[in-house]
Amino acid sequence: MMDLHTHSTHSDGSLTPEELVGRAQSVGVTHLALCDHDCIDGLREAESAAKGAGVAFIAGVELDVAYEGEMHILGLGIRDDAGFRAWLKEIESRRAERNRRIIQKFDDHGMALLPDLPKRPMGLVSRTHIAYALVQRGKAKNITDAFQKYMVKGRIAYDTHQKPSLHEALSRIGQVGGKSVLAHPGKLSADLEKAVQMLALNGLWGLEVFYPAHNRAKRESLLALCAKYRLMPTCGSDFHGAYRPGVNLGMAWEDNAQLCLTRELLFSAKE
Ligand code: AMP
Ligand code: MN
Ligand code: MN
Ligand code: MN
Repeated sequence: MMDLHTHSTHSDGSLTPEELVGRAQSVGVTHLALCDHDCIDGLREAESAAKGAGVAFIAGVELDVAYEGEMHILGLGIRDDAGFRAWLKEIESRRAERNRRIIQKFDDHGMALLPDLPKRPMGLVSRTHIAYALVQRGKAKNITDAFQKYMVKGRIAYDTHQKPSLHEALSRIGQVGGKSVLAHPGKLSADLEKAVQMLALNGLWGLEVFYPAHNRAKRESLLALCAKYRLMPTCGSDFHGAYRPGVNLGMAWEDNAQLCLTRELLFSAKE
């Protein structure tokens, strides 16, 4: 089984990289990528744990890019690189400023969340952690409810930070040897084919066709887009551990010939 989209405590996942690899091994994921949001600090730990566990591993990242609504791009098979790391740290500091503004907005509405935010020894703080704090306070039923009530556009604590352009994100991923994949295309609010066209012109490699929230019809239409724009289909669960209940490692995997080629292209250099 292959899972190319997972998160650890270095972003908004609840398992450390080592625990994630252990979970992968125990549920039968043989090919794994870790793609923390805008962060590559967990990759070394995951890679060494994967070596010990006999799990084939590739290094990844999930970048937020500036595009109508939200767009996330996975970079798969990236090299550790000082310039890339420094660029991500700039994004992280803009995100930290945004978090301060969000927390201030909650403060202004009589909700002091700071004491409830995890004291995190590693990784970046995400809106997921803020949502979780709201759930713990009884201010929302679950994480999705917390987003809907407070943090989506138009709600009291909506805020955003400056994100790289689509062109910059894809070229940065390319510079460190990575393959760019449009994450969860089914969640895109913008026109999908227009976005794919633009991404393809900028070097997109794949589409995350197999994803828990995509039904058969969605997968089929995405496979047609792959054929039309010569893109590879990928599979990813977007596992966040306890921060996304109901989503398990490997759950987007479908054993078909197209994913075998994807796996070969991504992992062959490493096996
Ligand atoms: P951030 O990267 O800090 O902006 O936080 C975004 C993260 O929050 C995403 O990666 C998702 O994991 C999660 N998220 C965003 N929107 C929602 C939503 N409507 N419901 C549940 N989780 C969400
Ligand atoms: Mn997330
Ligand atoms: Mn995403
Ligand atoms: Mn993700």
